[in-house]
Amino acid sequence: MSTPDLPADRCALVVDLAAIRANWRAVRQSFTGAGVGAVVKQDAYGLGIAEVVPLLAALGCRDFWVADLTEAEDVRRSEPSGRIFVLHGLCGGTPHDFRMLGAIPVLLDMSEVEAMARAATDAPVTCAIHLDTGLNRLGIGLEDVRRLVAAPDRLKRLQIAAYVTHLAHFSDPGARANAWQWRRFSAWTRRLPPAPLSFCASSGVFGPRERHADLARVGSALYGVETTPSRPQPIVAAATLTAPILRVHDVPAGREVGYSGAYRTPSARRLAQLGIGYGDGVPYRFHSDAYVLIAGHRAPVVSTSAMSLMSVDVTGLPEQTLRPGQRAMLFGPGLPVDQIAAAAGVAPNVVHVRAGRSAPRFYLPCPDDAGAGTAATARPLHAPQMV
Ligand SMILES: *Cc1c(COP(=O)(O)O)cnc(C)c1O
Repeated sequence: MSTPDLPADRCALVVDLAAIRANWRAVRQSFTGAGVGAVVKQDAYGLGIAEVVPLLAALGCRDFWVADLTEAEDVRRSEPSGRIFVLHGLCGGTPHDFRMLGAIPVLLDMSEVEAMARAATDAPVTCAIHLDTGLNRLGIGLEDVRRLVAAPDRLKRLQIAAYVTHLAHFSDPGARANAWQWRRFSAWTRRLPPAPLSFCASSGVFGPRERHADLARVGSALYGVETTPSRPQPIVAAATLTAPILRVHDVPAGREVGYSGAYRTPSARRLAQLGIGYGDGVPYRFHSDAYVLIAGHRAPVVSTSAMSLMSVDVTGLPEQTLRPGQRAMLFGPGLPVDQIAAAAGVAPNVVHVRAGRSAPRFYLPCPDDAGAGTAATARPLHAPQMV
């Protein structure tokens, strides 16, 4: 990928919009249900709602999933049509607020279901219902489902756009818990009024078709973040984090580097100081070996990161790779964000979202490719089924 002009004095997160398009297409191709929706919470995982939403809308994405009403407003500014599902439920808003915004609350407990039903005095109101099949976070459980099944009139005035559930063991496709959640979801929704089923996030769309259901909610895969290490996905990195080399210097053996002696040179080392730190979203401490790439060469991270600085060991790297103006890559194509995240003991999205929200962002445009079929093809909804 060609790099836009980056500020020589600052780190940069470069977002490759063509990579997001390629990932969107890979997801569309794999998913057999009616529609793929894009999860764009946390400013599209740090890559920017204002840039990502119009791109996906142009590619045929009609459903956008956000955490709260404020994010729903951000999406609406970028995408005048399309549905916006709000995962945190009513968020203190009224059904009227949602209607005005064209947003759909994913109701997260019985009190929200009842509040929504009460609000539907004149006409039916549109909502989605979160079912808690095993994550024990959001959604109504078996007892509530039984109550609704026993008194179906309570749901009569609700236009249910989707039943939603979320996997606890998404990163382990073979986990028995996933099969149990699918079984509960299928059994419960079979007894409730019919509505599209939303079961899959990124990990699911490349998984078994029998569990695809109707509406996918995909975040990580669009942004090139792997969620199932044991079953690699056909996606490409969409974000590249780089930082300028500020200084290269030789440090004798036995010297402390960084605050509180977090690192001591075991021998004479050559170090480079990078213009990036925890203030730009990189982890503070690494529990195991982390490295950056400088002109394709590995340079191990040493010491803790500072607010805007990070030290790496460049001993033995070719002199010409260490000239001023040279940049180090922390993650991007060829260096998955998983590496630095695993070394810090966090999930890849922790690093991805923080860097995206903290570091200055730049965009690689997405050239048109005529005739590539950007519109999503509509397919029939599955009937809710029992397994
Ligand atoms: C964040 C989120 C998603 C997206 O998950 P990815 O693995 O990033 O695709 C889907 N559903 C719910 C309920 C979520 O909170």
